[in-house]
Amino acid sequence: MTEVRVRFPPSPTGYLHIGGARTALLNWLWAKKNNGKLILRIEDTDAERSTKESIQGIIDGLSWLGLDWDEGPYFQTEFADDHIQAAEQLLASGHAYKCFCSKEDLDTKREAAMAAKKEVGYDGTCRNLTPEEITEKEARGLAAVIRFKVPQQEGSISYDDKVLGTIERAYSDIEDFVIVRSNGKPLYLLCNVVDDIRDRISHIIRGQDHMSNTTRQVLLYHALGAPVPIFAHMPLTLDLQKKKISKRSHGEIVSVQFYREKGFLPWALCNFLILLGWNPGTDQEVFSRDELIEVFTLERISKVNSVFNYQKGNAKFFTDPKLIAMNEQYLRSMEIGELGKLVKKELVEEGLWTDAYDGEQQQWYLDTLDLIRDRFHTLKDFASAGRAYFAEDYAIEPKPLKKNILKHPDLKTWLPMLAELFSKLDDFSKEETERVSRELAAELDIKPGILINGMRTVLTGQLAGPGMFDILMALGKERVIARLRNIDRLYDEQD
Ligand code: GLU
Repeated sequence: MTEVRVRFPPSPTGYLHIGGARTALLNWLWAKKNNGKLILRIEDTDAERSTKESIQGIIDGLSWLGLDWDEGPYFQTEFADDHIQAAEQLLASGHAYKCFCSKEDLDTKREAAMAAKKEVGYDGTCRNLTPEEITEKEARGLAAVIRFKVPQQEGSISYDDKVLGTIERAYSDIEDFVIVRSNGKPLYLLCNVVDDIRDRISHIIRGQDHMSNTTRQVLLYHALGAPVPIFAHMPLTLDLQKKKISKRSHGEIVSVQFYREKGFLPWALCNFLILLGWNPGTDQEVFSRDELIEVFTLERISKVNSVFNYQKGNAKFFTDPKLIAMNEQYLRSMEIGELGKLVKKELVEEGLWTDAYDGEQQQWYLDTLDLIRDRFHTLKDFASAGRAYFAEDYAIEPKPLKKNILKHPDLKTWLPMLAELFSKLDDFSKEETERVSRELAAELDIKPGILINGMRTVLTGQLAGPGMFDILMALGKERVIARLRNIDRLYDEQD
């Protein structure tokens, strides 16, 4: 088998979209599975719309996702000579011709054809110009585009799509399409093929939105005498209303950067994306990189469009709840040392990091993450909902404040009493702290829950979380006692 060489060729006209990331992921998987190569090619020929920021955004996004490439980034604009040369080759071999029809002529003809309900397409006026006629028009200074000469014959052009089977299109359905503009600039259809030939691309894995180009591009491969790569067209990703997801209608949630900023784990996003348009044929949904590389096949790419279920999720913002669930699953099950590195970045950013967490307090740091991660949705939660473990300036959420503190003004004396009992403990253990708390509740003739919920709120600011006595152990005797003694502030702040 020839070497597998796939490519990801984004046009750098915006941020890295999750649809683009999915395309990159599938190509990456196919390269990895076959010990092949992934080529990153920036299709920057549209100079007006291409931006440096977008190029950087694409590179950063792919790197963050862990989708590494083997060659590139190549820039399409650097290969302009190849594109011109290919157009000249097609002219010389009779597969293309110069067309001098003006835009006005073409518009008039199109309108007339529409009015007569005839087929609208280029009518072939310049298809058979003699060399003398061409010279004469050029001498008059008329501008010409270059059109590809679609064979005028019965039958159809076809290719074998790995996902969709044989795709056919009648020659009569394809007009002589433009490959070079009158200003001498080759068009995308041609550049893309020329680059894929030069880069020796074996498989083209891209969205079904490119299918209308593919048959024309197959004609170009034939005309340029190059082998046709294997095509695999992926379904599109739509929202629940069956609209294509886009920045205009869905905003930032379609950008990879959004998930990075919200504290998602890159592989959780990849794992979610692969299931949008591919299925393993089993019930398994969570895959490690290696597992996915092992089971991935082009044939299992779906034929039908997939749905991005855009709605409010448990992480309090709009995206697909399945993506949030996937992130939670990874957050809760990943190797704790790996998580430690990711959370470190968040804590550093928030000014909550101390190098001791990499040194003498490393065990405490990792144990604490392990304790609190169960209820968290994203990496951001460690520095927000988990702030009380790393700093004293944590917020008390309004709901538990009202329910667990303000409703029970006696806690103002009860919690400092508990602090005194804790301070006398030689053995500040889960068992002993629990015993003392329950004894105090019995003595005061109140439900232990009142003390426990009050303590939870004062100590963490949260309504829910890990087991109360585990929290005490994570915070340590000194911090627990100081915070319980200082409960007054919660009432004072209300005045
Ligand atoms: N530059 C094109 C795009 O971003 C690439 C299409 C292709 O994969 O051939 O849509």
